[in-house]
Amino acid sequence: MSPVTFDLLRDPTEGERIKPSDGGLLVPDRPIIPYIDGDGIGPEVVLAARKVVDTAVDRAYGRSRGIFWFKIKAGKEAQEEYGELLPNDVFKAIEHYVVALKGPLTTPIGGGYRSLNVALRQKLDLYANVRPIFWIPEVPSPLKEPWKVDLVVFREATEDVYAGIEWDRGSPEVRKMREFLMKEFGISIREDSGVGLKPISEFISKRLVRKALTYALEKGRRSVTLMHKGNIMKFTEGAFMQWGYEVAASEFKDDIVTESEVFEQHGGKVPKGKVVLKDRLADNMFQQLLTRTDEYDVIATTNLNGDYISDAAAGLVGGLGVTPGANIGDYMALFEPIHGSAPKYAGMDKVNPTAEILAGAMLLEYLEWQEAAAMVKEGVKTAIQAKEVTYDLARRIEGATQVGTQDFAQRVMEQIGP
Ligand code: NAP
Repeated sequence: MSPVTFDLLRDPTEGERIKPSDGGLLVPDRPIIPYIDGDGIGPEVVLAARKVVDTAVDRAYGRSRGIFWFKIKAGKEAQEEYGELLPNDVFKAIEHYVVALKGPLTTPIGGGYRSLNVALRQKLDLYANVRPIFWIPEVPSPLKEPWKVDLVVFREATEDVYAGIEWDRGSPEVRKMREFLMKEFGISIREDSGVGLKPISEFISKRLVRKALTYALEKGRRSVTLMHKGNIMKFTEGAFMQWGYEVAASEFKDDIVTESEVFEQHGGKVPKGKVVLKDRLADNMFQQLLTRTDEYDVIATTNLNGDYISDAAAGLVGGLGVTPGANIGDYMALFEPIHGSAPKYAGMDKVNPTAEILAGAMLLEYLEWQEAAAMVKEGVKTAIQAKEVTYDLARRIEGATQVGTQDFAQRVMEQIGP
């Protein structure tokens, strides 16, 4: 790939580029990692995460490895400096440097972008929104047995009703659609309706399920569940499930066993070393997560289902402040917390940086810097167990002391070691 030519940014003079190679990555010892501070509380949590990640990398590898952080601006900061919310350089930098960290971005109201986050995912084709959801001891949970939650949700992120194909009630487009549907198919839609489309394609469904299956096999997970609403939406949600089974049968035949095969051919016992592929209707999936929590492991699903289930699952283990996420394409990846920019807390050094810090741990895992990733996760866990936590946890943990964002990050760094 030729060197990147930015319109507004200056290319870093130190560090090296991560390069894609045969489905994997070539990670240099001193990779350049672009980061977006984001809006509202973004700069505070991103600073905390970068400090913790740097500490873990230093403790794990000494001087032999280190990250060169490369600031790229998006959101309010970019609007003020360049007059646009998402300058083209943001896309160029992530494309060129492959892996990036991001704080939350406020969704602009009116005109321009529907959502900056959706724009980033769609333009960079970051089609898998990945959320690991696990319980950290001491974090308040509505479940009696929160330790049973250990899930990774793979949510398709580029199509479904999120594709943005919708028209307002009374618009000329809705009028045309109504006329077309009546003329061609005899389908009547009320005049006062808004109309949206739900495209779900074979190619996009299969690549998402392929990613979830590959992840499950690489990480030694027990099962992958295809979550869908195919009993009602047969040719979109139902097709997603069917394509999921097809990709498993054609590409993962030796490593996967379906749930029905487990019962019909293996006496109810999963053959050693195999990942079980099952499917659940979306409504059932929600109640099963509560009633049979530990039977679920990796969940692969369409965009809207994924949006709902990943927030509901995050709520089971303490919510927004502690849950990280990643947007992953064929090789590019953008890591972020699942929470938004919480503008009312901006600049107060108050909010929980855990979700952003754990997004940093996911980034390290993606680089296969596993030792440093494990240190970050363990550091967060022990810091929370020490009960010196930010307001969101302090108000729900008995005997806890409230600390600020940077103080909490400091405690995580102390746990990682001198
Ligand atoms: P939000 O920013 O996630 O905040 C909602 C509430 O969640 C906060 O008031 C706070 O609750 C709690 N919270 C969020 N982050 C926290 C943290 N790090 N530590 C502790 N508590 C935290 O949701 P929103 O107010 O609906 O959205 C604000 C903006 O962010 C919107 O423009 C939205 O579109 C955008 N957003 C961006 C992303 C993204 O960039 N990926 C994701 C979601 C939303 P309490 O007030 O109860 O303490």
